Amino acid sequence: MRENQIKAVLQRDLKKLLKSLGVYDAVCGSRECCYFCREPLSLETISAVFPYDESVCFCCGRPECCNAMLNLEQEER
Ligand SMILES: [Zn+2]
Repeated sequence: MRENQIKAVLQRDLKKLLKSLGVYDAVCGSRECCYFCREPLSLETISAVFPYDESVCFCCGRPECCNAMLNLEQEER
């Protein structure tokens, strides 16, 4: 499978996920940002969606932010 095909599947699932969480419009309007670096996010730059503090949080694709998210999940256990 070529890389852009994988991306297409992920993007479709991401949209479905965001819609089910009720945050799709906010993401499309750049009203959501990365939980860690506070950079505004779009559908293209979201690398992860996770629940935290009873709200929906997002992580961008920066390695620092991905690491911070992994640490956050470990702390909760
Ligand atoms: Zn970030």
